[in-house]
Amino acid sequence: PHALSIQNLTKTYKNGFEALKGIDLQVEPGDFYALLGPNGAGKSTTISIVASLVNKSGGSVSIFGHDLDKDLYAAKRCLGLVPQEFNFNVFEPVEEIVVNQAGYYGIPRKEAWKRAEKYLVELGLWDKRKGMARLLSGGMKRRLMIARALVHEPRLLILDEPTAGVDIEIRRSMWTFLREINRQGCTIILTTHYLEEAESLCRNIGIIDHGRIIENTTMKGLLNQL
Ligand code: ADP
Ligand code: ADP
Repeated sequence: PHALSIQNLTKTYKNGFEALKGIDLQVEPGDFYALLGPNGAGKSTTISIVASLVNKSGGSVSIFGHDLDKDLYAAKRCLGLVPQEFNFNVFEPVEEIVVNQAGYYGIPRKEAWKRAEKYLVELGLWDKRKGMARLLSGGMKRRLMIARALVHEPRLLILDEPTAGVDIEIRRSMWTFLREINRQGCTIILTTHYLEEAESLCRNIGIIDHGRIIENTTMKGLLNQL
């Protein structure tokens, strides 16, 4: 199956605003895919629906063949999400945020600590593990969100503007990390409005504008058009 398949997805918010007007999108296993588009285009809405944080109005979504309407639990297990807003408890120690997330997926305590260690080390947060999350810098908080999203070892990782507001040095190290987990087999989708970020990381792209996909191509194809 596709890593992600979206068919004729629509979303009208309660205030009547039509944010998505029929999105069709397929992402293949192993891909590193960028969803590009200006602010307000519908990127976050699309991602929030895929992560079942927001209800869709119409259409269908499946993750590795698991339809969100029929097989939500299995679909969720395949997905790791890094949303734009920090949504962890800032008064909790860093390591517990990661370990507790593993608990939600029924991962045994010992295994959870092992994985937390692995990701905290890889993301450069090991020295900070005992401190409260509020003590982390913005870039560190972003990396904590990534560690937390990976602890159940999802086959698909979706990141919403992962490096927004992160300085260039940290951004580069995050890129290196994401490339490595993609190389190890994790399918990655990210939204960005930095073309440079998509260019550096992604093989395939979709461009969304006013709630519609207006272009679906390879990164190379896009660059040849510019
Ligand atoms: P749903 O249709 O998925 O239930 P809602 O229309 O209830 O979504 O909105 C969800 C939340 O988003 C509400 O708390 C609302 O205040 C907030 N919200 C409303 N308008 C906007 C906007 N233009 N951009 C971002 N968030 C908004
Ligand atoms: P992007 O991520 O591409 O910047 P979004 O998906 O956040 O775009 O928003 C798409 C459009 O939907 C925007 O015009 C935004 O203001 C609107 N929107 C987002 N959330 C809500 C909401 N809860 N209620 C009403 N409108 C919303």
